[in-house]
Amino acid sequence: MREREGRVNLKNLSLEGLREFVVSLEEKPFRAAQLARWLYGRGARQFEAMTDLAKAFREKLPERAWISFLEPAEVQASQDGTKKYLFLLDDGERIESVLLPEKDHYTLCLSTQVGCALGCKFCLTGKQGLRRNLDPSEMVDQIVGVRATLPPESKLTNLVLMGMGEPLENFQSVLRALEIIRSPMGLQFSHRRVTLSTAGVIPRIEELCSRRHFVKLAISLNASTDEQRSQLMPINRKYPLEDLLAACRRIPLDNREKITFEYVLIRGVNDSEEDAQRVTQILRGIRAKINLIPFNEHPGSPFQRPMDEAIQRFREILLAKRFPAMVRQGKGLDILAACGQLGGKV
Ligand code: SF4
Repeated sequence: MREREGRVNLKNLSLEGLREFVVSLEEKPFRAAQLARWLYGRGARQFEAMTDLAKAFREKLPERAWISFLEPAEVQASQDGTKKYLFLLDDGERIESVLLPEKDHYTLCLSTQVGCALGCKFCLTGKQGLRRNLDPSEMVDQIVGVRATLPPESKLTNLVLMGMGEPLENFQSVLRALEIIRSPMGLQFSHRRVTLSTAGVIPRIEELCSRRHFVKLAISLNASTDEQRSQLMPINRKYPLEDLLAACRRIPLDNREKITFEYVLIRGVNDSEEDAQRVTQILRGIRAKINLIPFNEHPGSPFQRPMDEAIQRFREILLAKRFPAMVRQGKGLDILAACGQLGGKV
């Protein structure tokens, strides 16, 4: 994790780590909660602003620690209200976050890596390859940075880890960020309102799900056979469909909880009625809901969005087999902010 002249970035510490840090400065452990309130509750950027900390403590802090903050370098607004934020990182790398207005709240789509190694064929981020993992602070700071641009009464209550990168390939940092995101001492998001989307890194799915109530899970499915999926998502060669779905069957779910499966519909590739029938067969026995995402076209991609009739037909076949299925129309298409369109180049 990136440090500055031997000083620790407080937002890279777990909350237990923050306690240990405070104790190492010969302060009482409860000071960690005070610090966390300033960092996450009020988005403080400087120690001098932390007026309820004893002056001597405040003066000690900058010798050993610093506070990161991400200021959006650019914000693009779509006609549909979606906003895409570009953040420049300390080392000059760029990431994007997408803010989606819903009826009475906002959802923020976070990035977890710069680029991505998995190379899914329908995704612009995948074309870059992996440049580096994000630190926990860089994930948390996307939230703090976007929140600072909103009016105080705005409800930013939902998060999806579906931006640039595969969250489970940056597992330890994502776990630490999620702890801060969910903790009452941190950003206080409910586990019901945080969704992690994965291309299917099976061992990590199992580890994540062993921590019950941690976050909701979404699986990026996109195909109904191994051959088709391996062509679209090279990770399928390592973790094939059958193993992935077997892992999904083992996930302990609450009463009415379901696993979300995302299916990017691509014209002539995976949008036929046979594909839909096969999806209902491979998901049999899994408490699933399916988000159908008509392919969001972007420059340089050979793929096309399916015809509307094909999308509806696909959905009807899923519904007929009692799988809840929604069509997610791409938001922010005009600013390349929709699923699979993030490239870090506003
Ligand atoms: S879809 Fe997700 S996992 Fe696949 S290349 Fe894009 S960012 Fe990576």
